[in-house]
Amino acid sequence: MHELSLCQNIIDQLTDLANVHNAVAVARIEIRVGVLSGVEAQLLRNAFTLIQVGTIAETAELITEEAAPRVSCRACGAESETSPNNLSCPVCASLDTKLIDGHELILARVELVTNED
Ligand SMILES: [Zn+2]
Repeated sequence: MHELSLCQNIIDQLTDLANVHNAVAVARIEIRVGVLSGVEAQLLRNAFTLIQVGTIAETAELITEEAAPRVSCRACGAESETSPNNLSCPVCASLDTKLIDGHELILARVELVTNED
């Protein structure tokens, strides 16, 4: 299952971050899931609940946010959000566009718990 290895990767990143910041736990994370990434946000959340047990992120809340694809237009130079079904330029309707976003899985925000307060 693809989502499990993605979650393992996220946990690894969180563990590194927590070490760097002397955190004792991860409170909340937000992940941007590109709509063209092939990742199902629901499956990702399910996988996360399995993987987080016994890790620094054991009690972390996972928020997923869908990220719309973006195209860069070779005709007019605009960079715009578009829909997965229509990758033409929303500004000038040219089909000569390049996909610049939408495949990504990004750890957008992490809230750590430290002992400092
Ligand atoms: Zn254009």
